[in-house]
Amino acid sequence: MPEDVNHKTQELRPTTKILTRGFDPSLSVGSARPAVFRSSTYVFSSPEAAERAFDIANGRGHPEANEKVDLIYARLNHPNAEILEAQTVPLEPGAEAAVVFNSGMAAIVTTLLTFLRPGQSVVYTVPIYGGTQHFLRDFLPGWGVKTIPVAAGQGARLDEAVRGAENLGVVLVETPANPTLVMTDLRRAAQTAANYKGLRGMRRPLVMVDNTLLGPAFQHPLTLGADLVLYSATKYLSGFSDLLAGMVLAKDPELVQQIRLQRHLFGNILQPDECWLLDGRLPTVVLRMNRQSKNAQRIAEHLAGHPKIARVMYPTLFSDADQSLIFHAQCDFPGAMFSLELKGGKPAAFEFLRNLRLARNAVSLGGVETLACHPKTTTHSGYTEEEFRQAGVTDGLVRVSVGIEHWRDLLADFEQALETT
Ligand SMILES: *Cc1c(COP(=O)(O)O)cnc(C)c1O
Repeated sequence: MPEDVNHKTQELRPTTKILTRGFDPSLSVGSARPAVFRSSTYVFSSPEAAERAFDIANGRGHPEANEKVDLIYARLNHPNAEILEAQTVPLEPGAEAAVVFNSGMAAIVTTLLTFLRPGQSVVYTVPIYGGTQHFLRDFLPGWGVKTIPVAAGQGARLDEAVRGAENLGVVLVETPANPTLVMTDLRRAAQTAANYKGLRGMRRPLVMVDNTLLGPAFQHPLTLGADLVLYSATKYLSGFSDLLAGMVLAKDPELVQQIRLQRHLFGNILQPDECWLLDGRLPTVVLRMNRQSKNAQRIAEHLAGHPKIARVMYPTLFSDADQSLIFHAQCDFPGAMFSLELKGGKPAAFEFLRNLRLARNAVSLGGVETLACHPKTTTHSGYTEEEFRQAGVTDGLVRVSVGIEHWRDLLADFEQALETT
């Protein structure tokens, strides 16, 4: 593993650590930034070192502190994944270890399959990312896992579902919910899971949080009692809408090691070139997110009250006192996503999207460029009427992911597009 090159890194702040730990230039012929190591296989320093490396890779042994373990084969591990993982850790308060995947879905699916067994159950908040929903609702039950949805933001119902679940293995929370930004109280969810009375000898349920929408800059689930934080690194961590990646972080390195052993089998590690690209984006993620959040807040607050808009969904505009409390307790900033509900329904939403000149009509989020989409006919189009109602996905709803353009230009673009609706 790459070691801390700076012995004082423990006292440093994350934005400094990200540029000073996890990478030793002397292992890359002095290169100031990491090189790309594209090899599929690695030459052992001795047959004994190879034996030791296999013991550790297969979970039969644990590396000693400061032991240098030989690399084996790039499906298991490679230098760019190790560097990327080591450099992501300081971005997530409370994290001690990270494991990288070739998409957010690979991270989510691999993590759930690592910890769930037939006969167990999962409680999860809805709405949740479409791929995650598909996996929980349609795939896991076929493997004997019971999956129990609970509406986001309903603390009492989540408590009830957790207490009532048999053989509960995992509580999976995605907050804020997409596209309405309804927030679930993470501290409360973690507390309820910690008090779960399961079968004797069974581990308490693990609390997993998909932190893609507000992390790593503005929401820190591991400090609120969550066990695992999951990311689609495709979004803010990468930030340029040009690569797919996923990340899982935990306080307990043993949990990460268990996930890593499954990644060996599934072969869904992120490739060296992509690791290198993503690694170069990490030092700016907090800068980008701060700018994106400030832009979104200014635009959302200016658009609230616009005659063509029924409602702007954004954390600083929450009218529900409970939601406001959760926002202030668990988020440092409101983030760069908002949704608009247009008074003219679907025709107005489509005209609005058609007439945007700067923002582009695309799904996904977190990039430096502003994107807008119509969830009801795209990201959430597989929902039943009941699910649309529960998730608050209406005909006139448009979701916006704000980038780093000048906010006044974006606001003017939204205002001119609204004139046509
Ligand atoms: C995009 C996204 C995912 C899936 O990530 P991919 O990188 O597309 O596989 C999961 N959760 C959330 C909240 C997302 O936005």
